[in-house]
Amino acid sequence: MKSAPRWPLHPAPREGEALSSWLNRVAACYQMDMLDLLEHDLGHGQADDLDTAPPLALLTMLSQRSGIELDRLRGMSVAGWVPWLLDSLDDRAPAALETYAFQFSVLLPKRKRKTRSITSWRAWLPGRSIHRACPLCLNNPTDQAVLLAWKLPLMLSCPLHGCWLESYWGVPGRFLGWENADASPRPANDAIATMDRRTWQALTLGYVELPRRRIHAGLWFRLLRTLLDELNTPLSHCGTCAGSIRYIWERCGHPLRAGQSLWHPYEILDPTIQLQMLEAAAIAIDLIESKVLSPRGEQAVLFLPEPLTGFTNGLPAVVQKTEPINHWQQAVKAIGDAIVEARHNPETARSLFALASYGRHDPESLERLRVTFVKEGIPPEFLSHYMPDGPFACLRQNDGLSDNF
Ligand SMILES: [Zn+2]
Repeated sequence: MKSAPRWPLHPAPREGEALSSWLNRVAACYQMDMLDLLEHDLGHGQADDLDTAPPLALLTMLSQRSGIELDRLRGMSVAGWVPWLLDSLDDRAPAALETYAFQFSVLLPKRKRKTRSITSWRAWLPGRSIHRACPLCLNNPTDQAVLLAWKLPLMLSCPLHGCWLESYWGVPGRFLGWENADASPRPANDAIATMDRRTWQALTLGYVELPRRRIHAGLWFRLLRTLLDELNTPLSHCGTCAGSIRYIWERCGHPLRAGQSLWHPYEILDPTIQLQMLEAAAIAIDLIESKVLSPRGEQAVLFLPEPLTGFTNGLPAVVQKTEPINHWQQAVKAIGDAIVEARHNPETARSLFALASYGRHDPESLERLRVTFVKEGIPPEFLSHYMPDGPFACLRQNDGLSDNF
């Protein structure tokens, strides 16, 4: 086969840039429209598959035109991220969702989550096009590269500038407008910036440094997708973990499950809902890492700091010193954690009240305790089992208090 002549001008692709974005910038060098470049110079009549699965023949020709390696060009589309970001581009692959989003668990014990099954699904590929970009990255009108990751519901902020990605219209590099033209770049909070930096590390380096250990990019994307689904689990399925899920949403300032009442896979949700879900995932990770939450999912431990381990000095292990345990400090921390949980979980509130009221029998003392609990932010209705007119009422277990989660 005769090789195609080399383009005299072509900008170098930016790291993580989408194929369509790079072709737009190539076309701009010749004052051409990207579709015209595709059709008249490359013989490719459609543009909708460029960022998903560009045909090999097109990539081969682009490689000849630009001198850029085929693998690098392939990595500018989602197809180049299989099997790390997603298992397959085949949306009919059996049990794709179960395999991807239900084999791990972070916030909820594995048995708690109802496995969902749908016939047509691909991880992370949105139901409708996303037009979000970093206003600082696109600050220079002559060098406006759009990253592939910005076209997926995968990140909230720019990993390089730490500001929120913003909605735009038009074609970067040709004509571009911001939906909120007057807004200056908004810095993302630490929780969001940390999550997005890790996602960027996964995309560009193939691994992510978590507090406990370095994990493969494939595991990171699956953990993230697991979290997004756990946060979209109806509270009635969460049992005693319902309080934690509710707490995460409250910390975000968004309605529970981002206002969803019926379950749909993350990928087809409205983009505004997806952003709220991602924000909740970032907050959840932050709460786990700061030990405010201690979730029961198997993989939650990956977000905790490495426990202190003694180094070996060659002596038998029995004579090595171990770190003394401060039981009092641990107890104070456990009570602090229980108070946080009791603000959202009536069962914990009831148990904590029973513990705190141990040995108190007079109604006045119990009432003082109840007031203290309410001052700590525990809703009074969670303490409805406490009846001031009976000395042992606070210890009654079967009081009909229903847990309406
Ligand atoms: Zn940026």
